Amino acid sequence: MERSLLQWRLLPLLALIASLLSVFFASRSYEKETQCSLLPHDHYWISSKRILTPDGLISGSVEVNGGVIVSVVKEEDWYKEQRSRVKVIDYGEAVIMPGLVDVHAHLDDPGRSEWEGFPSGTKAAAAGGITTLIDMPLNSDPSTVSPETLKLKIEAAKKRILVDVGFWGGLVPDNALNSSALSSLLDAGVLGLKSFMCPSGINDFPMTNITHIKEGLSVLAKYKRPLLVHAEVEMDSEIDDATDNDPRSYLTYLKTRPTSWEEGAIRNLLSVTENTRIGGSAERAHVHIVHLSDASSSLDLIKEAKGKGDSVTVETCPHYLAFSAEEIPEGDTRFKCSPPIRHAANREKLWGAMMEGDIDMLSSDHSPTKPELKLLSDGNFLKAWGGISSLQFVLPVTWSYGRKYGVTLEQVASWWSDRPSKLAGLHSKGAIAVGKHADIVVWEPEVEFNLDEDHPIHFKHPSISAYLGRKLSGKVVSTFVRGNLVFGEGKHASDACGSLLLAT
Ligand SMILES: [Zn+2]
Repeated sequence: MERSLLQWRLLPLLALIASLLSVFFASRSYEKETQCSLLPHDHYWISSKRILTPDGLISGSVEVNGGVIVSVVKEEDWYKEQRSRVKVIDYGEAVIMPGLVDVHAHLDDPGRSEWEGFPSGTKAAAAGGITTLIDMPLNSDPSTVSPETLKLKIEAAKKRILVDVGFWGGLVPDNALNSSALSSLLDAGVLGLKSFMCPSGINDFPMTNITHIKEGLSVLAKYKRPLLVHAEVEMDSEIDDATDNDPRSYLTYLKTRPTSWEEGAIRNLLSVTENTRIGGSAERAHVHIVHLSDASSSLDLIKEAKGKGDSVTVETCPHYLAFSAEEIPEGDTRFKCSPPIRHAANREKLWGAMMEGDIDMLSSDHSPTKPELKLLSDGNFLKAWGGISSLQFVLPVTWSYGRKYGVTLEQVASWWSDRPSKLAGLHSKGAIAVGKHADIVVWEPEVEFNLDEDHPIHFKHPSISAYLGRKLSGKVVSTFVRGNLVFGEGKHASDACGSLLLAT
């Protein structure tokens, strides 16, 4: 009798303990699942007075569920609808915009992760509102030129990326004339190919000639994927007397890579892009000219080719829009890149081309190295590594330097999200619209900040960035990647849950 009484008393107690334990373990596993995000839930609303949609700026709310945008509602409709609005993050007046898609970044992983690496690179991207990044096939070791080397990239990136990452493969002499080698690289999932028309500075990434490019395009056409081209061709430099070549002077470096290098390469390149026209032998292939610096003859040639129906686009980078040759201090090799930053008059023309739509999009060309290779103490422009470190700042830089020209939020989203995602064939990205991935940046265009030592910079070598010391406008508040809040209030999510973007 006593025993059964004890049982009766114990049973509810045991049940209570069991249920407490199950709650405890459930919440532990729940916490574990949510370390991809700073938010504890995956169905929620974000609201703001300024949401940039393909139909313009609205005041309202975006509903995110399971990593996807499931509705976009204007404020007036939002109040009409009696939805459960438990999980609403109200961002007030901050701008809600599609996350940036950077189609040109060098994360140097594997093999040169002391230069950058996937963890620090994607942390910087997240802090800068970049939700997708396409990694270049060179500056890692080995270069990504075959299925085997792509596999090494994938292994290096897995579980180490905070944002989504895709890869360009390399078009090099070894694979360019071998269509089965090229097909196997494309079959392995690269989003397109990249080639150089001049030496790349990396031994296992040799330059291509126009025959390689032509052959490459015919293979790319079958896959409907683009070829990205570094369009400079080596010609005589403009240095002509011994007094004219102080290696610490930026103008010396500028003369070693005159506009004729870009113009010559682009003229040669455009001799084969007619094949990309409708009915051409490489119809459905596409040529994208990376980091244009020359806004004169080179740009005229590109406009002409577009007018004839060639499938061609062109990007430039924030450093060509922010800086000018005149202002680069003697020996300050942080500003060295190729093609070089040119004179202020050229920068004005570049802005004109951006505003007119003659330049299609922007990319960072974040191309870091170890500080030693920048030779900052020697200041030798001719020997220092060329490449600008910018990844985290491209949004505020575009906005800060563009305001004087009347840049709009729509243009920023077009240059940084819509067009780059289309170039890379990423149709689930690039807009705040129903059905798209919830890749979102929330930012405050009006908030100014100084890029000084106190500013948290997440890429590996802040000291080599040419933007240090600048005052910028446009603070990134939050970054969502597929619904995960990966960056918010200065903090990153603790797990790296970005996805690999492989073409199928
Ligand atoms: Zn590059």
